[in-house]
Amino acid sequence: MLENLTGRLQGVIKNLRGQARLTEENIADAMREVRMALLEADVALPVVKDFIARVKERANGREVLQSLTPGQAVIEVVNQELTALMGQANVGLNLAAVPPVVILMAGLQGAGKTTTSGKLAKLLKEQKKKVLLASADVYRPAAITQLQTLAKQLEIDCFDSNPQQKPLDIAAQVMDQAKKSYYDVVIFDTAGRLAIDEAMMAEIKALHAYLQPTETLFVVDAMQGQDAVNTAKAFGETLPLTGVIVTKLDGDARGGAALSVRHVTGKPIKFIGVSEKVDGLEPFHPDRMAGRILGMGDVLSLIEEAHKKVDMAEAQKVADKIKSGAKFDLEDFKAQMMQMQKMGGMASLMDKMPAQISGMAQKINTTDVDKSLRRLEGIINSMTPEERRKPELIKATRKKRIAAGSGVQVQEVNRLLNQFEETQKMMKMFSKGGMAKLMRGMGG
Ligand code: GDP
Repeated sequence: MLENLTGRLQGVIKNLRGQARLTEENIADAMREVRMALLEADVALPVVKDFIARVKERANGREVLQSLTPGQAVIEVVNQELTALMGQANVGLNLAAVPPVVILMAGLQGAGKTTTSGKLAKLLKEQKKKVLLASADVYRPAAITQLQTLAKQLEIDCFDSNPQQKPLDIAAQVMDQAKKSYYDVVIFDTAGRLAIDEAMMAEIKALHAYLQPTETLFVVDAMQGQDAVNTAKAFGETLPLTGVIVTKLDGDARGGAALSVRHVTGKPIKFIGVSEKVDGLEPFHPDRMAGRILGMGDVLSLIEEAHKKVDMAEAQKVADKIKSGAKFDLEDFKAQMMQMQKMGGMASLMDKMPAQISGMAQKINTTDVDKSLRRLEGIINSMTPEERRKPELIKATRKKRIAAGSGVQVQEVNRLLNQFEETQKMMKMFSKGGMAKLMRGMGG
């Protein structure tokens, strides 16, 4: 996500950190670099200009020039202004109205409305809300089926829209069903077009007037770059939007839309789409995003995700086992690998790590790491439970069998066993002498 921008800004930051004294001139140089980096990331020009002007003014002020570490102070100003640009704090969904609360989804075709409707429904279901999904995209019957398929997969109710009917008639029936069956939330997906046209705008305006939604969310594709911002502006002028969802930030897009859209529409980004999968929607936190962009990492989101996805009971079991000094076996080793995979694999973890770490990791191919994790799991699966508990029992003939069983070379089985032994040794040291001893062990 936004790797190019982060990469370029890293250069500027390194330079600034290295300066014992800052002059107006080298601040100006740094700002030129920042400006280029933002423009390259496709941040809208007026947004860039405004941003640079604000940073420059503060960077030439007392707070920076009189700081003991002026370079660091400038970086802090950039961090604060980036956060402010994207909206300060996270703004969540407003679900306070009398149920059924309506969430109206708007945006161009292909922006990710349908996918995002499903993702949102899943999030709300996890919050114990009774959710009804509905689609009024009668121009593309496949869109209705797409939402129905998604709903089925998520085990969420979906209104059976008839593509022969008008969107407003569908809306009336949806609301009728939602009231009768006591739904908490209705997520209403609408038709998009390839570009903004009057008919689409008139239709969604009419739907908005009828449904009186509590949330009107504009879904925009980050890969659309500058166009995304123009579309957002046009929708914002037609509809009283309550928020924006920026999708496809996981792509190799320059991602500038995420930085511009708040400034241009004045509406908060409430969520970001970070994968095609149904759990690829994250609440948007401007401060954390600024941290990610500046290569400081987003450790808070990482921890939150870990709490959500990792089986804490399972993790605790391994931790207790290590503390108690019990033997760490291949089953535990495998459990650790599975936890990592559950968190979305290496690539997703690295994305939220500070740049120093992820920079190091870029030298490692994360897809390869994920692949090799799965291979290791395959090897362990080919062992008997007895062997997993006591790997020292595994003799040459069994190694050959295990290799054949998991489709790898014997050397790979050996490597896994060596790697396991190393981990086991570390775990043992950890249980006996704690961190200090572990560090000494690693040092020599
Ligand atoms: P709609 O026409 O606005 O309803 O768009 P869709 O929901 O059909 O999405 C269009 C395409 O974008 C689909 O292939 C989705 O899988 C994909 N998509 C949506 N959101 C994301 C995202 O956050 N990341 C990625 N990588 N793909 C996404």
